[in-house]
Amino acid sequence: MPQRHRASLWSQLGRVLAAALGLVGAALLAALLSAATQSMSTLALDTPAASPSGPGTALSTTAYAVEAPSPPPSEPPPAPFSPAPAGEQAQPPPAPAPPGVEGLPRIPPWLKVFYRGDPSRKVVALTFDDGPRPEHLSRLLAILDRSHVKATFFFVGIQAEKYPNWVRMTAQAGHEIGNHTYDHLRLPLIPDCDKGPEIGRCQQAIWDITGERPRFVRPPGCELDAATLRAILERGLVVAMYDVNLRDDTPNLSSRAILRHALACVRPGSIILGHSNVEATVDMLPDLISALQTRGYRFVTLSELAAETTAPRRVSAPRGAGSPRASSIRAPRG
Ligand SMILES: [Zn+2]
Repeated sequence: MPQRHRASLWSQLGRVLAAALGLVGAALLAALLSAATQSMSTLALDTPAASPSGPGTALSTTAYAVEAPSPPPSEPPPAPFSPAPAGEQAQPPPAPAPPGVEGLPRIPPWLKVFYRGDPSRKVVALTFDDGPRPEHLSRLLAILDRSHVKATFFFVGIQAEKYPNWVRMTAQAGHEIGNHTYDHLRLPLIPDCDKGPEIGRCQQAIWDITGERPRFVRPPGCELDAATLRAILERGLVVAMYDVNLRDDTPNLSSRAILRHALACVRPGSIILGHSNVEATVDMLPDLISALQTRGYRFVTLSELAAETTAPRRVSAPRGAGSPRASSIRAPRG
């Protein structure tokens, strides 16, 4: 092949290659431009119409947030376990004050079982169970009236319905009326489902007669089990125990013996348990009142005693059935 023709062939080949390279480059350029356009369209679709932090600032965050899976909602951490003090474990939260007790001294909400008032105060509460009964009650009310002493009477519902005038007279004299159940049954011995109605029916009977609702329940025989305690507390009532038992339901006990025992046992904050239908108790009552007043004691109702009682250092569950030695509310020392 002559030299001239060979040069011309190389020249044509070069032009073809250049044209081919130009086409590839153009195609590459077109592909790059297309990809860039698509990318911008995606971002524009994901861009929120308006962002609280300014237009455009949340662009990439929003776009990725749509794609990223959201973490599962986490449960709140469990509350740290803190055991309640002994004796408070089975107790529901305090119930609001029921109607019919407005204007009365405020019972501290922590008070659930009341054995004794503040031991630093020379106050004492007289309580009388098992009324109303006509025998001796008139004389008892007259003695209290003469001495300007207010007491607390735990009435039995069925007796209250039988003698409503005695209930009314007692309440109108300024004494406090407590709940001693409707039938005076030993509550731990009856079915659990009957415990509440025994308390509720007595509440209703006294409410119907006096327009006031008792705030304290004294279980007959001061016998208390867990279900009885629950039935009382869930009605917003307080269990009324005692620390001085006159033991005046003992047959043939003389009034002198009852008085001697009472004066030996009473201490500041005492709750004295007696019976309104026992003649010997009514006989010795003037002497008991005057002796304690001479010692500087003031007589109050159970609600007043509770209102003057400061928070206990420790509340223990009762050990025995109403025994004054059963573990009691212990007020702070000093
Ligand atoms: Zn009784």
